[in-house]
Amino acid sequence: MISGSAWSSSPPEKMRKHHHFRILLVEDNPADVLILEELLEEVHDFDFTVKDVSRMADCLAELGRETYDAVLLDLGLPDSQGEQTCLRLKKEFPDVPVLVLTGLEDDEAGTRALRMGAQDFLRKNQFEGALLGRSISYAVERQRIDSELRSKTRQLAASESRIRQIIDANTDAILVVDRDKIVQFANPAAEQMLDSRLLDLIGRPFAYPLSRVGTCGQEEPCELDISHRDGSMLVAELRMVETVWNDREAVLVSMRDITQRKLNEATLKRDAEILSRLRDAIIFTDLETKIEYWNEGATNLLGWTAEEMVGKSYLCRYSKEERAATLKRLERLRAGHAIHREREEIRKDGSKVWVEALAYSTLDSEGQPNGILIILRDVSDKRKLEGQLNQAQKMEAIGTLAGGIAHDFNNIMMAINGYTQLANMASNQPEVREHLDTVTRACSRATTLIKQILTFSRQQPQERKPTQLYEVIDETIALLRASLPSSIEIVTTLEPAAPTVLANAGQIQQVLLNLGTNALHAMKGLTGHLEFILEPFEVDTHVAEQNPNLQPGKYVRISVSDSGHGMDKETLQRIYDPFFTTKPAGEGTGLGLAVVHGIMKSHDGAITVYSQRNVGTTFRLYFPVHIDTVVDVDDESAPVPQGNGERILIVDDEESLLLLGEKSLELIGYEAEGCANVIEALERVKQQPDRYDLIITDETMPGMTGMDFIREVLKLRPGQRIILTTGYSAKLTPEVIEDAGISALLPKPHSIHVLGTLVSKVLKEG
Ligand code: ADP
Ligand code: MG
Repeated sequence: MISGSAWSSSPPEKMRKHHHFRILLVEDNPADVLILEELLEEVHDFDFTVKDVSRMADCLAELGRETYDAVLLDLGLPDSQGEQTCLRLKKEFPDVPVLVLTGLEDDEAGTRALRMGAQDFLRKNQFEGALLGRSISYAVERQRIDSELRSKTRQLAASESRIRQIIDANTDAILVVDRDKIVQFANPAAEQMLDSRLLDLIGRPFAYPLSRVGTCGQEEPCELDISHRDGSMLVAELRMVETVWNDREAVLVSMRDITQRKLNEATLKRDAEILSRLRDAIIFTDLETKIEYWNEGATNLLGWTAEEMVGKSYLCRYSKEERAATLKRLERLRAGHAIHREREEIRKDGSKVWVEALAYSTLDSEGQPNGILIILRDVSDKRKLEGQLNQAQKMEAIGTLAGGIAHDFNNIMMAINGYTQLANMASNQPEVREHLDTVTRACSRATTLIKQILTFSRQQPQERKPTQLYEVIDETIALLRASLPSSIEIVTTLEPAAPTVLANAGQIQQVLLNLGTNALHAMKGLTGHLEFILEPFEVDTHVAEQNPNLQPGKYVRISVSDSGHGMDKETLQRIYDPFFTTKPAGEGTGLGLAVVHGIMKSHDGAITVYSQRNVGTTFRLYFPVHIDTVVDVDDESAPVPQGNGERILIVDDEESLLLLGEKSLELIGYEAEGCANVIEALERVKQQPDRYDLIITDETMPGMTGMDFIREVLKLRPGQRIILTTGYSAKLTPEVIEDAGISALLPKPHSIHVLGTLVSKVLKEG
């Protein structure tokens, strides 16, 4: 009774031999149920267990309870009709194979059922048992493959969505850029990092050079600076990998914001750099003194390198006793006390160095000590300076003392020298004269010695020579030009014929450089000019009254002006103080003007300053004009110029020198009158003002100084020729002398030659 198409091929191998199927038959017609069960029994290749139900509700319940390999489904049931029946079943049990039983000639319903998910349809009463068996086994196999596919697809979709979530949640920007450099994909992080909306990114060209893709391997990410519209900058680390996108070659670009990392790296690097560059030794140890960090400074100070010391104990350099003492201090450190002391460290090469040592414990985030920081500073220089300062003070004291002694000693030397010469002249015994010559030579050595003591006690380490300031300024300007910004112009008005001054060129250059540098500092960032003026300058009584360092007379004046920021009153008051500076540490030492002041003082000069805020500053330097009042006698063997009976008054409180002077002058043809009392001498001049052709007077005398005496004498007789003899006096500048109306200075001690030459010169000039 069964008809239908014959199988053209055998069922799948693994099902062929007595494969067992559990079948749920859903059929409300008991006759059909019977027929189907009989047909299934005829099948030889498979075994079937059949359970039959007549309603849809029972079918669903049965499938929920038991597992079936296939369902044979009649579409017309009491509680479900047509396609609905198949749809419902497939919806609730998508993985169970369904074979639909259709009525005669109703292939259309069967086809529709296939669309609803049925595996096959069979026309009732038109098939035989074998066909039914194979149909079932194929349906089962198809469903299995179907289900597998569906589950795979589901898994794939799930995993894709997971990946998508990961990509979207990623803070790295992820983009896919095709070979035409068009962005195909971008995640939300890309929006932020590249500062543009996804819409503006995708489908547009990638804004950064892709040429770098090639140079950028997986191991070697490159860095990109990305500027945002708000002006901020971001540093991104870019990695690229080859990929395939929609079957085309593409590049997967991932970008990570490393701005903060870069900043941190920079900070760390800077800190490390500072630590390593510090001149001080910086050493970190753990609480057991094991060294963890040892900077360049430590290497420079102590000689051991970081490689040698890191990992060793800080105490390994110490002797046993020192170690014990240090361990005690360590206890105090651990208890939170800082240690600060000066000690002598031994270097790697065995030499010693004085250091100021500072140690304290470092604390962890909970405030517990976790290590020790040690800072060592080389204080050898400081110690040396302290030593030098002590030495300088000692020298100054000696200088003052020596100056005092030298004055008296000078007079004694002069007496010895003078009388020896007189004796020499008076004697005609060659042997005696030879001895006297020896005494004279010894005297001259002693004199040189006194001169040295005098120089020292005046604190004049540098020699001063007749100098043309014009040349010094010229040289200094050349030096200053080197550091001159183009915005600043140097203007000079230099009088080449300015008189000579007594100066140490090196020190004057230092003065000008200091002033010039300050001026350039004051004009930093401004345009302006730096002006030098050199000119002769006459100090009158009015000017002298305003500046105690200036006496009326002839000077050479240098002005240094700038158009810088100027100074206020408070600053002006302190500029010459050593270490006073308004400049930041490292730029100003505050010593420049202190030195300038000192040098001007040692040059018997003066310095003035005029400054106005935001207008500029002018410094003026005054140097006394150098007048050559002292005769140099080069040739002691030349005949002494002889006098012609001129009358000379000698004033000196030292009797022996007075006598020496008288005798010497008489010997060379003058009529000399000595006077040991300056008051009495003045009285003599008063009695007879034009009695003397020349007066020679000492400076330091009881009752009245030589200068006062001269003033009085000149009042009595203006134009009186006067020679002042001086041993040691810092106050007598050439100007003072000229101004006082003195004709010449006669140094003490002096030879008869010098005396004779000077007296004759002064008398001739008169
Ligand atoms: P330093 O230049 O090292 O600071 P100085 O002794 O040379 O030390 O100068 C002291 C201070 O005087 C300066 O810090 C500055 O305030 C002020 N000063 C000096 N020269 C000038 C100038 N030409 N213009 C303005 N201020 C000046
Ligand atoms: Mg300075």
